[in-house]
Amino acid sequence: MSNIVMHIDVNSAFLAWTAAYEEQLGRERDIREVPAVIGGNEENRHGIVLARSIPAKKYKIQTGMSLMEARQLCPNLLVVPPNYQVYVRASKALREYLNTYTPIVEVFSIDECFIGFTDLSRDEGVKLAHKIKDSIKEKFGYTVNIGVSTNKLLAKMAGDLEKPDKCHTCFSEEIEEKLWPLPVEELFMVGRKTKHKLNRWGIYTIGDLARADYRLLHRFLGAHGRMIYAYANGIDSSTFQPAPPMKSVGNSSTLKYDVTDRDTAHAIILSLVEMTAWRLREGEMMCKVVRVGIKDKDFNYISRQKKLPYFTDCTKDIYKNIRDLFDKHWDGRPIRQLGVSVADLERTQFKQLSMFQDRNMLNNEKLDKVIDSIREKYGDTSIIRGVFANRDISPILGGYPDDEYPGMTSIL
Ligand SMILES: [Mg+2]
Repeated sequence: MSNIVMHIDVNSAFLAWTAAYEEQLGRERDIREVPAVIGGNEENRHGIVLARSIPAKKYKIQTGMSLMEARQLCPNLLVVPPNYQVYVRASKALREYLNTYTPIVEVFSIDECFIGFTDLSRDEGVKLAHKIKDSIKEKFGYTVNIGVSTNKLLAKMAGDLEKPDKCHTCFSEEIEEKLWPLPVEELFMVGRKTKHKLNRWGIYTIGDLARADYRLLHRFLGAHGRMIYAYANGIDSSTFQPAPPMKSVGNSSTLKYDVTDRDTAHAIILSLVEMTAWRLREGEMMCKVVRVGIKDKDFNYISRQKKLPYFTDCTKDIYKNIRDLFDKHWDGRPIRQLGVSVADLERTQFKQLSMFQDRNMLNNEKLDKVIDSIREKYGDTSIIRGVFANRDISPILGGYPDDEYPGMTSIL
């Protein structure tokens, strides 16, 4: 059991990581100091703001807003494309650094971790939190918020109190003063829907929830009601979860329009495989099973898989096999959603060259490495396959999904 828990949250992570990375590359500009956003492709109407700088915030630009809207609010806005390779590396580097302080590290999302300590006094905990915060700034060039408490829920709530570049505590005797006056929707796990329900019952603050009728919450919100009631009272008994081993990697995409022709479907599959195969290589894994999932316009779903006679992490190899699977099983009905995934994973270092593997694939693997490194340096869309040149399809589909990270699951 850990007696001190800290929640570490990178402030405006995508923006900060991009800025720190650009600094490493020797670029003069600092995207944190001008109105800037990290956002998808601006030509595509669906591009949205993923993160914004503080100067951009002054123009009332919000995360999740369309880039078009953001551009209307600030005509000089600098739009920087996302670079997931950099984010994943930065996240990993931070995790490894936190590991030098304690072996108890739980990844909560790409830019948030919990860390635990078993033999620290509260004062020592607070001192150490400041030290970690400042050393991250010095070592990596970006700021974090650290919340300090005795369980994950309170540490997370403390970390959110005031940003950026701050350490805050929220120990049990501080709950009434620090947590209870906050609007109820600021409590972890209270979403918009729950907020409306709670408001209807006269529950507006976290304090209102903490003193609410437990039976009412239990009756109308079930296990979720019991959980947020416990959270409002600062109770969270969840323990630290080790990172689960990666079992499969995949990406899927709901399409902008129903796809009826094979060429377009192939291009979308390639686009999905680009991200999936890259994530596989980044995780230093290879796969033996490839899968395709097809949902038609009437929501009929099929998933088919194939076992390869060798392990691979090669984009072209995975693509070819998934494309063949698709061709074999697609019945021609208009497609609403396509998904690809790979499974039966094995660490790269155990890989053996197989006599089944096409010799060309070895060259393709070298090509993958070169493409990965160019994308890391110049952005995800700096190099795209020719097939995407004149199409309305993103050359790389699927981001880095959050669902790989286990959350706090304590249900009382
Ligand atoms: Mg953050």
